[in-house]
Amino acid sequence: MKALVKKSPEPGLWLENVPTPQISINDVLIKIHKTSICGTDLHIFNWDAWAQKTIKPPMVIGHEFVGTIEKMGSNVHDFKLGDLVSGEGHLVCGRCRNCLAGRRHLCKDPKGIGVNRDGAFAEYLAIPVTNVWYCDTNIPQFPSRNFVPRIGFWWAEFDRLTSGNQLHPFELLRANYCLYSFSITSSSSAPNPQREVGG
Ligand SMILES: [Zn+2]
Ligand SMILES: [Zn+2]
Repeated sequence: MKALVKKSPEPGLWLENVPTPQISINDVLIKIHKTSICGTDLHIFNWDAWAQKTIKPPMVIGHEFVGTIEKMGSNVHDFKLGDLVSGEGHLVCGRCRNCLAGRRHLCKDPKGIGVNRDGAFAEYLAIPVTNVWYCDTNIPQFPSRNFVPRIGFWWAEFDRLTSGNQLHPFELLRANYCLYSFSITSSSSAPNPQREVGG
């Protein structure tokens, strides 16, 4: 399959042919329809100090996406083939003290999709079913792929307010996307959001 890869430890990305990911019994294979670019992806593209200490090339990047379920492991019973889904980009260990106490956001060993393991800027992505989120098909795919950035923006805004850090211009652009997405999904007066945003 085709994928955008951080192939070597230097600025840039490469469009490569890579093997389609295999799934285990608890995984879902997602055919990617649309993706969003996150600030994280720009760090990786630019190969800044954070990326240099975090990313181990070669790595398929990208963690904000929407797509349909192409294949499921034998232990997956919550979804059906063809379901429209997005996903949480942090995979947790499930075995550490915090995970077992239900505080999975404090896992001692989280793995980022497109950061610590292959990501979504590809034709297919394989992730555990515990990270898969069902998307209502009445909502256009445009905001669904922004599922994570919407949270990311509010986090960036929180960070700005509490630390005095200024938002990167890209964050502002993303905020506009988020607010626009929110307005079309929450507005009953939008006659045909699917057509207006190109679905
Ligand atoms: Zn992100
Ligand atoms: Zn854990």
